[in-house]
Amino acid sequence: MNYAASGPEPGDSRDRWAGALMGNYGVPPLTFVRGAGTELFDDTGTRYLDFLCGLAVTGLGHAHPRVAAAVAEQASTLLHVSNLFVTEPQLEVAERLDALVRAGTGQDTPGRVLFQNSGAEANEAALKLARKYHGRGRHGVLAAFRSFHGRTFATLAATGQPEKHEPFQPLPEGFRHAAWNDVAAFEAALDPSVGAILLEPLQGEGGVNPADVEFLRGVRRLCDERGILLVMDEIQTGLGRTGAWFGFHHAGIRADIVTVAKALGNGVPIGAVWATAEVASAFGPGDHGSTFAGQPLAAAAAREVLRVMEEIDVPLLARERGAELTALLESVPGVAGVRGLGLLLAAELRPEALNGRTAAEVARACLDAGLVVNGVTSTALRLAPPFTVSGDELVEGVGILAGVMAEGSAGEAT
Ligand SMILES: *Cc1c(COP(=O)(O)O)cnc(C)c1O
Repeated sequence: MNYAASGPEPGDSRDRWAGALMGNYGVPPLTFVRGAGTELFDDTGTRYLDFLCGLAVTGLGHAHPRVAAAVAEQASTLLHVSNLFVTEPQLEVAERLDALVRAGTGQDTPGRVLFQNSGAEANEAALKLARKYHGRGRHGVLAAFRSFHGRTFATLAATGQPEKHEPFQPLPEGFRHAAWNDVAAFEAALDPSVGAILLEPLQGEGGVNPADVEFLRGVRRLCDERGILLVMDEIQTGLGRTGAWFGFHHAGIRADIVTVAKALGNGVPIGAVWATAEVASAFGPGDHGSTFAGQPLAAAAAREVLRVMEEIDVPLLARERGAELTALLESVPGVAGVRGLGLLLAAELRPEALNGRTAAEVARACLDAGLVVNGVTSTALRLAPPFTVSGDELVEGVGILAGVMAEGSAGEAT
């Protein structure tokens, strides 16, 4: 289908974008109009392979037929009545999330779920819950340097990237940071005011850096010894992405609070906070709320997403496809190494293959060649294809990357 023939000229939307939208993302390079599975199509009809999934969101691929049908059906049934009333779609989502969070952790007592609309809101709610649980005086939160927890004031304060803080000071107090993957540093950063430790099981935005299993176990031990709540930020890693239902499952530990968002709606905005029943009981009527949170459209999408995810066993797919993708990437001459877990990977690029380019510039060249990835550090690309990606698509996508690397490499005769 030729979209250019029926709509505005390609490129028009970028000009309109620059005129009408705020500049916090810069002007995006192109306009996507349609997707199907791993494929995306821009406003000229050009096809791309999506190895980024809108930042680990569309794990079941674009326009998944069952999710699309569930959304359409809910849209013509009931969209919104507020949280003053029970709505049905969220019940199954809460029950399944609880079962998946506790699966294999030995946490036999059911926990409880609070819905939100995004990742930052889920973390914000988790931080409020931890603070309400422990009360004033134990309101401190310890997080890791290079972490990413969101863009609201509290989640920005929790985010361990001081350069992001500066323009928005003063931020809420009580947040401190310690070195990633360093139990001793975490222990040294504790004092009686700390009531919660907030951690990603793999730092996504920070460069795709998995937590060492020993680090997670050590932090859990510190939490147990001192009555500190362990809050796992599974917003990017949760729901199969790392090859387990949740990233902290790799360490065989328990969590007190878990936050999820990105993949839960496969593109429909929804976030959630899970907590043990004991911690959850800290919230009573009036302590927190959100007009839209858990509303029927988003919850109906999430309900179908979880059903499909369980049917097709997304953790297993992430492990299998992730191993294939890792092997393919390792065979690309410009790739120095591959890190990550499951289908959340980073390809570290060799300096001679970068040849003066940043990883973001390489990602841009990949986009021009038909592959969507992003530069997660100045020298590494992040790859997070959908769980439903085929072996052929993996080969094709890595082939595009290999071509881009070869073109720009220092060894290339020009
Ligand atoms: C994306 C992300 C967030 C923020 O989620 P938003 O939906 O963008 O607010 C928080 N924590 C982690 C680990 C994330 O990857």
